[in-house]
Amino acid sequence: MNRRDFVKASTAGLAAVSSGGALQAEVHSGGRPAVISSKNGLRATGKAMEMLRQGADTLEAVVAGVNIVEEDPSDQSVGYGGLPNDEGVVQLDASVMHGPTHGAGSVAALEGIKTPSKVAKLVMERTDHVLLVGEGALKFALAMGFREENLLTDESREMWLKWKRELSPEDDWIDPSDRLPRSVTAQEKRQFQKVLSTYGTINCNAVDENGDISGVTTTSGLSYKIPGRVGDSPIIGAGLYVDNEVGACGSTGRGEANLKSCASFMVVEFMRQGLSPEEAGLRVLKRIAENTVEPYLLDEKGRPNFGLLFYAINKKGEFAGVSLWGGRQYAAHDGKVNRLYDAASLYNEVLDA
Ligand code: ASP
Repeated sequence: MNRRDFVKASTAGLAAVSSGGALQAEVHSGGRPAVISSKNGLRATGKAMEMLRQGADTLEAVVAGVNIVEEDPSDQSVGYGGLPNDEGVVQLDASVMHGPTHGAGSVAALEGIKTPSKVAKLVMERTDHVLLVGEGALKFALAMGFREENLLTDESREMWLKWKRELSPEDDWIDPSDRLPRSVTAQEKRQFQKVLSTYGTINCNAVDENGDISGVTTTSGLSYKIPGRVGDSPIIGAGLYVDNEVGACGSTGRGEANLKSCASFMVVEFMRQGLSPEEAGLRVLKRIAENTVEPYLLDEKGRPNFGLLFYAINKKGEFAGVSLWGGRQYAAHDGKVNRLYDAASLYNEVLDA
């Protein structure tokens, strides 16, 4: 997804449309094969399904799918063209999980490689480790034959320069006094929400005809982040989890919330207990909302003021995208049609810029 679209669709200040409980999404009856992704992944679900039909392994299929988005400079939330950290350097995070072998691989704060998902897959296949970070991840990628490139496109560089020019509260350094509710003015709140808004990622999960399952999550993470900041995407259990007996879940949105809840793991565990993908996702969003207590992360009604979505699929091929806030969509291929679906949401209101 274009980061500006994401920001427009999801940030700063709540346009109160209605109040009430969880919003039901379109019901999907399941069936295999099936592929689900974040909204920016319609080409990924299409590609993955095409490969599944040709007999490809589920992980090969989803990685090939997200590679399209990683290599696309116009998606500023992922791979090449992703928005950089606060020093103008693009640092990427990615993880993969392969259901049949319960294999996992990931990279964090990787610089100079367009397709971190491929590197994560090789960490899984070619090492005895799960997670490589920073310089070590880059050295590993180069050893695997990847080419180091400048990932900062002119458009992303211009956005970073603009951010630099307008620097001030728009960084990750928060004055401790701002965490106290009485000290947060409406203007400061808007500034915080602006900081919190610039997330973006692609997650893609597939189940094939035999019921084998894999997933991948890849991102440039939070824009203008503190160098070295790692989000949920490369953390197994947070930004991605796959259990071949149950299903898969991945996430986009505020990674810090997932990291503190092992959210994707929890969604899969709720599916194991018999909840549908939608019920499981909403249950976890509710838990995260309950666990969000820091005043600067809450709106005037005490609800999380950030965006967070899960993309869950079970072994039967039933899938759902669920979102904290309303008006969000996700991509899925149900074996017949590749299209966008409305996500279920915990709150009906739309986060609006
Ligand atoms: N979850 C990602 C992170 O926190 C960003 C995103 O999905 O928008 O790095």
